[in-house]
Amino acid sequence: MSWLQRLLGTRPSNPDDALPWREVLLAIPILQGLNEHEQTRLCELAAALLRQKSLTELGVSLSPEDRAALALQAVLPILHLDLQWYRGFHEIILIPEPVVRRETLQDEFGLVSDIEEEHAGESWQQGPLVLAWSELAQDGGWDGYNLVIHELVHKIDMLGGEADGAPPMRLGMSMQRWRRHFQAAFDALNAQLARGEEPSIDPYAASHPAEFLAVCSELFFTRPATLQRVYPAVYDELKALFGQDPRSRQPEDGASD
Ligand SMILES: [Zn+2]
Repeated sequence: MSWLQRLLGTRPSNPDDALPWREVLLAIPILQGLNEHEQTRLCELAAALLRQKSLTELGVSLSPEDRAALALQAVLPILHLDLQWYRGFHEIILIPEPVVRRETLQDEFGLVSDIEEEHAGESWQQGPLVLAWSELAQDGGWDGYNLVIHELVHKIDMLGGEADGAPPMRLGMSMQRWRRHFQAAFDALNAQLARGEEPSIDPYAASHPAEFLAVCSELFFTRPATLQRVYPAVYDELKALFGQDPRSRQPEDGASD
């Protein structure tokens, strides 16, 4: 019997309470730099998340460490908020690989083409969160990508109605200012692409204001120096929304663009 099994065996009521939270937290780069109080809070929120939401594993089998790593990263955006911000869903479904979906598009001249789009994650209004484990397993680094944060920010966005890149504002924030700053950055990215220039951030962000918010939030938590340099006003709005300044946590060697 491993130490972990012994630990789990002592808490039969809810095995997730006994997950190796601290050990896993300290092994995930983007969770480095949180102070003692924040580490404790993150572990509490992660355990509460797993109590409140059901985690369905379809064709994948997560170890206790995997569950802890997923939950800890999932609650990073609400570290200084609370679980109420995740009230828009009840279930997290994990699948092995991204789903490739064939979609038929018709352009303005009536030309029909089939495109294959890869969906690593999906999030519908009030629906479950569907996440591909093959993608999740690569997350946690200062590399600008984080699937669970991306999808959960869509959920936060949808609290304000449709996914349109405008989540509910916190006290002291201004929706007008938020929209102005996000629209300017979204337009700048689209203009850059229209000119055939190398985009400053993942060009997927230019596809829709909701994707712009989700991609910028991924950067905010996993490559904050880049977001702050490219779209400083967007960085400041996200800082106000999430009540955090990840730039101060990002190590210098991970801060290069
Ligand atoms: Zn998205």
